[in-house]
Amino acid sequence: MTTVRVVVGGAVFDRGRLLAARRSAPPELAGRWELPGGKLEPGETPREALVRELREELGIEVEPLERIAGEWPLRPPYVLQVWTARLLAGEPRPLEDHDELRWLTPDRIGEVDWLEQDRPAVAEAARMLAAQ
Ligand code: C5P
Repeated sequence: MTTVRVVVGGAVFDRGRLLAARRSAPPELAGRWELPGGKLEPGETPREALVRELREELGIEVEPLERIAGEWPLRPPYVLQVWTARLLAGEPRPLEDHDELRWLTPDRIGEVDWLEQDRPAVAEAARMLAAQ
């Protein structure tokens, strides 16, 4: 039996906006937008992985807030889980894996081409943001 492995994505909120990141790799995902994040390393909790990934990929510090209910299958054995997070410090920059970043208000969430697997969590994150 194969154990599922978690990829954590971050719905990063700042001043009423959600951060979207455009992937630059691999070729089949390049140009599509995602909630930035990545794979858990051995021994890490999802929150720890999210903090580390966003520091490495975007140069920002975040505080994970709550998990968005649900889990979305990726290429086996990976599954996507999503946490909301608050920007604590830094201006996000595409340091690795991305070539463009955008802050979206809830009404503009549909303006970028999100990866299919991210869409349910993005919709929920937009609802949460609009209700803040
Ligand atoms: O970012 P990283 O390459 O570590 O992510 C591993 C895999 O997780 C990617 O190949 C991508 O398919 C998937 N992913 C995703 N949605 C996200 C983050 C990652 O589908 N928000």
